Amino acid sequence: MTKEYSFDDHFKIITVGFEKPKIIDPCVHCGESTAWGSGNFVNRLGWDDGWSCAMCAGYECDACDKQIYLDEDHDIDGQGHYHFDCLPVELQKEMN
Ligand SMILES: [Zn+2]
Ligand SMILES: [Zn+2]
Repeated sequence: MTKEYSFDDHFKIITVGFEKPKIIDPCVHCGESTAWGSGNFVNRLGWDDGWSCAMCAGYECDACDKQIYLDEDHDIDGQGHYHFDCLPVELQKEMN
């Protein structure tokens, strides 16, 4: 007797395969995983009871109001937070 492979069983296997992976250690701000292998693990920071990715943990740029990645936070004479690209050109030159 050959065991028939029913369509239903097949369908089940497919749906399991495409199931959304559970997000481990999501960033409390953007919900992206900060777990090992997610790309956010290295720079993740403890935040309240959970984690924050480095992008969300950074400051908002005073020039363009967009989030600054933690390592790319610059100031002008110790004041404010800016993307490197948002600094005045003279300052960019000084830093290079
Ligand atoms: Zn985030
Ligand atoms: Zn900016």
